[in-house]
Amino acid sequence: IITLAIESSCDETSVSVLKNGREVLSNIINSQIEQHKKFGGVVPEVASRKHIENINGVISEALEKAEVSFSDITHVGVTYGPGLVGALLVGLSAAKAIAFAREIPLNGVNHIEGHVYANFIEHKELEPPFICLIVSGGHTHLVYMKDYGQYEVLGKTRDDAAGEAFDKVARALGLGYPGGPQIDKLAKEGNSDAIQFPKAYLEEGSYDFSFSGLKSAVLNYLNSQKMKGLDIQVADVAASFQKSVVEILTEKTIKCALEKGVNRVVLAGGVAANSGLRSYLQGECGKNNIDLKYPSLTLCTDNAAMIGCVAYYDYVRGLRSNLDLNAIPSLKIGDHY
Ligand code: ATP
Ligand code: MG
Ligand code: FE
Repeated sequence: IITLAIESSCDETSVSVLKNGREVLSNIINSQIEQHKKFGGVVPEVASRKHIENINGVISEALEKAEVSFSDITHVGVTYGPGLVGALLVGLSAAKAIAFAREIPLNGVNHIEGHVYANFIEHKELEPPFICLIVSGGHTHLVYMKDYGQYEVLGKTRDDAAGEAFDKVARALGLGYPGGPQIDKLAKEGNSDAIQFPKAYLEEGSYDFSFSGLKSAVLNYLNSQKMKGLDIQVADVAASFQKSVVEILTEKTIKCALEKGVNRVVLAGGVAANSGLRSYLQGECGKNNIDLKYPSLTLCTDNAAMIGCVAYYDYVRGLRSNLDLNAIPSLKIGDHY
C-alpha cells in the first residue's frame, strides 16, 4: 500500500508518501512560522490562505522526493481534526480530490493519534500496549493505548496544554513564537532551582494536569520583580518553569505506568521535543524498569508521515472515510466519523 498523507491542521502544510504505513518515502513539511511570528501566534485566516497557496506545491514535492507519481498512490490519508477548521478544510479538499480522481480509498485521521503514531515510524518494532504521554500545543493527555486505534484516556489537562504553557510563558519573557524551543534552549543556561514555581498535583490519584496556575505564578513573579525594580534572569525563569512542567509530567506518567502495570511509556507531541523532559523522564523510567520511546525531533512536531501511519493502520482494520468527510475542529481521541 502506497499512502499519500496530508496534514494541514495548524500552521504546517505537510505531505508524506509512505509504504505500508511505517516506511517513509518522503515527508515534506512547509512551516508558516515566519508568517505568524509577527503576530505572536497562529492567525487562523493567514494559516488557511497559506495552506491554499502551498498545498499543490507540497504535494508535488512529496511525490517527487518519493520518486512516485499519482498513479502509484493506492491510498489517501488526511487530518480531519482537531485543528483550525479553515486550515483543515484545505488539506481535506485536496485529499478528497485525489481519492476521487484516482478512485482509491480515503482515511480521515485524528491529528492527536498521529502524534502517537510518530513513534511507530521511529521505532519499527514498537507495538501497543503502552502508556502514552501526549504533550502538544493544544493537548495534554495520559492515554493507555491497548491496541491500534484503542485508547483509554486516563488523564488530561483541565486548562492549558503543556505546549500552550511554554508558548505563553515564552511570550511573557519576550522570547517570541513558538516559545517551547526557545525556553528549552535558555533553560540549559539557567539555574532550575533559582525560583520555586508551584506544581499542581490535583486530587490524590488523579492523572489530570493543570498548568494555568504555574503560568500565573510565572507572570506574577515577572510583575513583582518589575515592581520592585529587580532584574529578571530570563534563563533562570525558563529553567525553573521548565523544571516544574517536566517534573509534574514525569511523576504522573511514571505513577500511571506503575499503577496500570505497564512497563512501556511512549512520548508524543511537540513538547516531546523538549530536551529536559526527554532526559528527566528517561532517568525516572530507567529507575523503574520502564522502557521509554520517543520520536526524533522532526517527527515530534506536526508532519504528514505520522498521519499516513494512522491512515494505514485504520485502513488495514477495515475503516474507510467517505468523500463527504467534514473537518471536525474539536475531534476527540478515539472518535471516528
Ligand atoms: P496539537 O497537536 O495539540 O493540535 P499543535 O499541532 O499546534 O497542537 P504540536 O505541533 O504538536 O502542536 O507542537 C507544537 C508545540 O510544541 C508548541 O506549543 C511548541 O512550543 C512546543 N514545542 C516544540 N518544541 C519544544 C521544545 N523543545 N520544548 C518545549 N516545547 C516545545
Ligand atoms: Mg505548528
Ligand atoms: Fe500537533
